[in-house]
Amino acid sequence: MATTRHHLQLISVVTLLLSLPLSATPNKEQQSNPISRFRNYLKINTAHPTPNYTAAVNYLIAFAATIPTLKTQTLYLTTPDKPLLLITYPGSNPTLPAILFNSHLDSVPAEPSKWLHNPFSAHHSTDGKIYARGAQDDKCIGMQYLEAIKSLKKSNLNYTPLRTVHISYVPDEEIGGFNGMAKFVESKEFKELNIGFVLDEGQASVNDEFRVFYADRSPWHLVIKAEGEPGHGSRMFDNSAMENMMKSVEVVMKFRENQFDLVKAGVAMNSEVVSANPVFFKAGIETPSGFVMNMQPSEVMAGFDVRLPPTVDPDLMRRRIVEEWAPAWRNMTYEITEKGPLRDYMGRPLMTATNDSNPWWSVFKQAIEESGGKLSRPEILPSTTDARFMRQLGIPTLGFSPMKNTPILLHDHNEFLKDSVYLEGIQIYEHIIRALSSFDGASFT
Ligand SMILES: [Zn+2]
Repeated sequence: MATTRHHLQLISVVTLLLSLPLSATPNKEQQSNPISRFRNYLKINTAHPTPNYTAAVNYLIAFAATIPTLKTQTLYLTTPDKPLLLITYPGSNPTLPAILFNSHLDSVPAEPSKWLHNPFSAHHSTDGKIYARGAQDDKCIGMQYLEAIKSLKKSNLNYTPLRTVHISYVPDEEIGGFNGMAKFVESKEFKELNIGFVLDEGQASVNDEFRVFYADRSPWHLVIKAEGEPGHGSRMFDNSAMENMMKSVEVVMKFRENQFDLVKAGVAMNSEVVSANPVFFKAGIETPSGFVMNMQPSEVMAGFDVRLPPTVDPDLMRRRIVEEWAPAWRNMTYEITEKGPLRDYMGRPLMTATNDSNPWWSVFKQAIEESGGKLSRPEILPSTTDARFMRQLGIPTLGFSPMKNTPILLHDHNEFLKDSVYLEGIQIYEHIIRALSSFDGASFT
């Protein structure tokens, strides 16, 4: 019964959203609707290196003030020019773990001369595309979260979630998150939120299915070094630094080939294998016009960008490097610089379960299905996001941005999102917010 009524309400909301004027004429521009509000948010330049966080936060606070029962709080965890906005939709049972919807305020820079339209004008083309830096990454979700709550409230003024819903807008994700989400998760304010589950940003999908991400890959910067006796270029002898390095490079490249073959055969996705790409070689004795040719060098170095999915045991990977890639018996040494965590505080792989063992996953998946959407096979994100900071605390976190049939344009020139895709995303979040916030935890065992 409740489900039927819920669907009817949603249909009317959908109709309302779809009937809103999508083209931007000067008059209509003055009217506030989901598209004009999204465009106004996009017009606030929060691109590095000088993101205007204050304007973005003020804009979001003003919008949140139009939605009944929402509370806002601005946190300054570093400097006054890096605010973090927290918006709260209080639940009827504050003792239950809360849900967090996260997005970042900042974006990467844009080169206006390479764009069809100014990246901060949020140009709305006649075919429905909204061009702006941040349209996909990730100002869309930041506004959709609020629009979804506004819409839920509109269809049922008395609707109150069981669990509290928080929405966070964090600075500096695009430059590592160290003065943003990393500080937030360490704060007393974050601990007091008692977060049980997080949705963070995902990526567009070029087909009809939504993508969802349960982990990030973690980068290792590996430098291996071979040392040996120097020798005249004419002499053949064993164990020169160059010979030993060449053997190692062969072994690494064979490993790389095996991993890449899994991708080419369709057995694994790019982000599910270990990538090991050579990025530099340093050898030889330089002269003003080139290199000394009759001299075999005593030292050779090679650098590799290695990316590990959380499914790989880092200890096994280290052993492989010690025994095969840079073995001491070949006079080799190595150095690994870990650029991100691989394990949570309990020592578990940094990933969120996407099966029935994780009740949040089941509720999320069902909400997508109820909205008429379909999820593709859960993926590991090839790059990193702020989600890793929550996963480190052991909080289940999924990356999700409802953009299907959309080219992947994050960080690219002419980043755009279609108005219809944006509006559909609001409906999807209505389902998700309703389902997660009313989840009573009965299926927790
Ligand atoms: Zn992003």
